[in-house]
Amino acid sequence: MNPDMPTSLDVWAAEASTLSWNPGVLIDGRLVPSQSSQTFDLVSPRDGAVLSAVSAGSSADVDAAVTSARAAFEDGRWAGVAPIERGAVLIRFADVVASRARELALRISLEMGKPAHDALAVELRAIVQCLRWYGQLADKLGDEAPVSSPSSLGLVTREPAGVVGAVVPWNFPLTMTGWKIGPALMAGNSVILKPAEQTSISALLLGELALEAGLPDGVLNVVPGLGSVVGEALGRHPDVDVISFTGSVGVGRRFLGYSAESNGKRVWPELGGKSASVVLADADAGAAGRTTAWGSFYNQGEMCSASSRMVVMRDVLDEAVDAALEQSRTMQPGDPLDDASQMGAIVSEVQLARMQGMVERALKDGATLAAGSIERFDIGSGRGSYLAPIVLTDVRPDMEIAQVEVFGPVLSVIAVASESEAIEVANGTPFGLAAGLWTKDLSAAHRVSRRLRAGTVWVNCYEEGNMSMPFGGSGASGFGRDKSAHAVDKYTDLKSTWIEL
Ligand code: NAP
Ligand code: MG
Repeated sequence: MNPDMPTSLDVWAAEASTLSWNPGVLIDGRLVPSQSSQTFDLVSPRDGAVLSAVSAGSSADVDAAVTSARAAFEDGRWAGVAPIERGAVLIRFADVVASRARELALRISLEMGKPAHDALAVELRAIVQCLRWYGQLADKLGDEAPVSSPSSLGLVTREPAGVVGAVVPWNFPLTMTGWKIGPALMAGNSVILKPAEQTSISALLLGELALEAGLPDGVLNVVPGLGSVVGEALGRHPDVDVISFTGSVGVGRRFLGYSAESNGKRVWPELGGKSASVVLADADAGAAGRTTAWGSFYNQGEMCSASSRMVVMRDVLDEAVDAALEQSRTMQPGDPLDDASQMGAIVSEVQLARMQGMVERALKDGATLAAGSIERFDIGSGRGSYLAPIVLTDVRPDMEIAQVEVFGPVLSVIAVASESEAIEVANGTPFGLAAGLWTKDLSAAHRVSRRLRAGTVWVNCYEEGNMSMPFGGSGASGFGRDKSAHAVDKYTDLKSTWIEL
């Protein structure tokens, strides 16, 4: 290699040094200081350095954002525009985001620690595709005229719900945001976005790019701040019609409570998971082990649908575990700004400590540490929050590590003796988000996937799909569905009109 050629790390670091951050809240088309006048420090998990001050939004900011969103909705500046024109703005929004993809990817990487190249290839591609997909759908949905008689006409039309609060997590900050604002804006709603604390600066830029693309003022407001302040104020606001939430089980249930105690707004919770990847005896166990490990370490394991449990039949246990161990060796953490890094930093010191504690208790419960370490990983800089991928074998289904979401790079291997035991173990948590299934037998693929309690089942793959497939779960994973035309249901009301002729 030519030593004078800049490395990917040099290039990203040079771009990072030119970034500037403006704290504020984006309300009614303008970035303004929060009415609280307070800020908090955003610490990068890459190296522990303070990246920026972020405005700590207040309930007064939420009031202002809701007032702006309501006014924009009622005067028809967006809801009253022809669907094909709304679609054109969303497609332009996708183009503007694509033109700033490197900067957005870099912000995300510095904020929450995932590799910048991954943010660019996966996160940015996802939001651009999502905005385009809903932009293209805008004028393709029809209404219904189901009943007719000689003297009457029945119409069923879809109306936008009004003001939508979108509350999102930090792990796939722009993907999750796109999944919510895409269908909500397409349908004509006005939106208030509350990003996770950690990923506020990428969210604010996204809001500014929406304005640049021609979204009218007040249609997309962004209010960063603490969940317990901004999130709760949105959840309890009497003039918010819909809350679309992705995050943890506990906070999702709080939103149901906020709704019950305020105006009965509809709440769509999309929550955590403890997904099983089931490996049957006839499977390609090498592919199963590799892919399952990838699915539990990708994005530092900070993935709601992570394949965090490999439920594998004893006949192929050794082969599947060997492949998982091999995969773990190829995914050691590295600098998020180095394109060679397959895994970046854990989002925060608090999350890192939580993961270490869970693994420590798993070892006390009798699990075996087959790969990784509970010690912090040093990428060579002596700084930042890193953890090498961990594989635990000898895990029993009743252990905490097999029941509770880690949200970190930890794979638990559970050995089973039969197909029916595999199904029982896979279904034996309160969650129902996703599952993997590995088999070459077509009948087994159908038979077992029908019995897996999961909103998505991946057969002989993991984390695949496209915008046409809905995503969400059941049980403790909540019941909201993102993506696909079905997501439009969350943000619209059906109106029946009966006309006597
Ligand atoms: P989280 O703690 O539940 O936070 C999610 C959002 O809720 C953040 O914007 C947060 O603000 C806000 N919030 C926190 N406390 C609140 C409160 N008391 N009232 C109102 N809002 C509040 O989740 P996270 O740690 O960001 O993300 C991880 C979780 O998300 C995991 O459980 C994961 O499984 C889940 N997830 C699910 C999916 C899915 O599609 N099903 C996708 C991705 C992630 P702050 O930033 O201030 O905390
Ligand atoms: Mg949080």
